[in-house]
Amino acid sequence: MKLGIFGGTFDPIHNAHLFVAESARILEGLDRVLFVPTNNQHYRSVAQVGPEHRCAMVLGAIASNPAFKLDDTDLRKDATGYTADLLPRLREKYPDARFTFIIGADSLANNTWERFDEVLESLERFVVAPRMGVRPDALQRVLAAVPKNLRERIATLNLPELPESATLIRTLLSQNKSVRYLVPEPVWQYIVSQKLYGAGSAGA
Ligand code: ATP
Repeated sequence: MKLGIFGGTFDPIHNAHLFVAESARILEGLDRVLFVPTNNQHYRSVAQVGPEHRCAMVLGAIASNPAFKLDDTDLRKDATGYTADLLPRLREKYPDARFTFIIGADSLANNTWERFDEVLESLERFVVAPRMGVRPDALQRVLAAVPKNLRERIATLNLPELPESATLIRTLLSQNKSVRYLVPEPVWQYIVSQKLYGAGSAGA
């Protein structure tokens, strides 16, 4: 089985996440894509809403796609939030799967990954979706530091750049503006009903 692994804070999940995951599934011939929410604070600030809310929104967003699943391995108490530690845990769960890690270019270009070689060694493929604001030379610099035999596992997905970000969604909601159609309908309904991210009546 070819398994896609798509990690993120998903605070909240939005349409670009789904587009990237579905495109990776098709382009890479994946049987399934796991959405793996994290509490990881190594590379970013703390999530604004708790893991229960973020998981509920992921479940709502992926319900209509039978190839998409939620995996809570990186939310376990003993999770470190490092991908190098996550992958062996996923390997225990899915011993026969071939792993493809899916990521947006910003995650790779803007952070120094811990034990990146170890991460690549656990994977068959590491695919990168283009993201607005990430310059190709920033990505090239990261790739240049990877040993050649591992670099061959990394590929860029030929996709358009999409403007959505969780930051944009949270900002609009905090300004009492609508995010309807920037996020899947069940996510929008959940945000409004739970009044997340400061959503008020105009947000609805
Ligand atoms: P934030 O704005 O809070 O940083 P985010 O929109 O980047 O959040 P995350 O949950 O941190 O969302 O992202 C999960 C993964 O999805 C990351 O690898 C990220 O790079 C990728 N991603 C998110 N939005 C996009 C997008 N518009 N295009 C391509 N990749 C994206």
